[in-house]
Amino acid sequence: MNETQYQIENKERISGIRERAERLDLLAAQYRAVLAAVAEGVILADDSGGVLLANRAARRILRLGFDGCESIVGQPLTALFAVCSPQSQAELSQAVTSIAAADRHSANHSGHKGAQDPGPGAALKSKQADCADPAELSDKATALLLTDGERALQASLTPMQDQQNGFGGTVIVLRDVTTEQQIAQAKNDFVSLVSHELRTPMTSIKGYTDLLLKGAVGALNEQQKNFMTIVKSNVDRMAELVSDLLEVSRLEAGRVQLAHEQLDLASIVYEISQELAETLRQRELTLQFELAPRLPRVYADRGRVIQVLLNLLSNAYRYTPAGGSITVAAHASEDEVQVDVVDTGIGIPAAEQDTIFERFYRADHPVVRQQAGTGLGLPIARSLIEMHGGRLWLCSEENVGSTFSFTLPIYARDRARPGQDSLSTRIG
Ligand code: ADP
Repeated sequence: MNETQYQIENKERISGIRERAERLDLLAAQYRAVLAAVAEGVILADDSGGVLLANRAARRILRLGFDGCESIVGQPLTALFAVCSPQSQAELSQAVTSIAAADRHSANHSGHKGAQDPGPGAALKSKQADCADPAELSDKATALLLTDGERALQASLTPMQDQQNGFGGTVIVLRDVTTEQQIAQAKNDFVSLVSHELRTPMTSIKGYTDLLLKGAVGALNEQQKNFMTIVKSNVDRMAELVSDLLEVSRLEAGRVQLAHEQLDLASIVYEISQELAETLRQRELTLQFELAPRLPRVYADRGRVIQVLLNLLSNAYRYTPAGGSITVAAHASEDEVQVDVVDTGIGIPAAEQDTIFERFYRADHPVVRQQAGTGLGLPIARSLIEMHGGRLWLCSEENVGSTFSFTLPIYARDRARPGQDSLSTRIG
């Protein structure tokens, strides 16, 4: 290469670098403008909880003043969140530490792209990457509710991947949700008050209806009996709705206390099945069990576990046409027992599978319309399981059937001996 050629190439290289630098400057200015404009507080923390960046809204929400940008960078998160209660600060620090640890762990297992051999075509890819975002947000966010004694602050924590170095920090998006919380509280108080007020007159209507039907004040003719039976079935429906509403408002207000004890799930399942045997026979449904032998005991509230199982089983029989079958299966993993309630019923279309956990949702299906229901059973069941530290979810296919599954933590002393083989029994 002669001197002139060398100078031309050098010039091109320098102008390429300048162009890239200008593009990066422009990108950085755009990001800064967006960050300054958003109403949510945005904070970037490194893996040890040090602050790398905090936008204007974050400084406003955390009452830090607007000019402290330089002094904020490098400080620990706890200093930035000094306005929050000590418990909120501790929860936040712990969440940031565990997000960083989990992200590093998954990067080690998957082998981060920055650490790998670039391979063929790397030059082209790196050219394309010049224009791409230098960092990527994971789609796994952790939500926390923080408080400073008077306000409720919602923090959403998401790990960020840096294209070069792997874990690039945790992005914390902060929102003042005090007003939303107050509205939710007022709504909850109203529902709770109305349900309480309705309960007393309804108990009296129910009592007198039963007395009339039993002929306590004289025999009823056929037509009177029919009318009273209709009154009774509607009062029963209203009583169910009121008791579900009360339960929802208690759960939302955090007024439900769990009485944990060690429980043998298999015996609870068999007990409930005895109660349901007659209903299942009338509905021409069979019930089968696939419970692992020596299933470890779980640590849970007996009454609440029965409530959840009854809800899932009654849904299974109400939404499964005659001739179908219901299976209750249970197996243990390292620290939890999973229970599956499987039916061969009408199933739930994919588009509705999240919606059915919303309050009052009932599918628009003839079989569902035929059955009395409040649309509150599943949201209550999910909240109760989550209060135990478990999960409740479903797999379903329309016209094939549904499987509702939930997990409960294993009682600590039983953790070493999960059941292995499967024992099948059939009744019905
Ligand atoms: P409810 O059964 O009282 O309506 P739930 O909250 O228990 O209230 O259920 C909500 C809705 O989810 C039901 O109305 C029904 O549309 C659907 N669903 C629940 N379980 C099943 C099931 N096993 N099979 C089909 N649909 C179901």
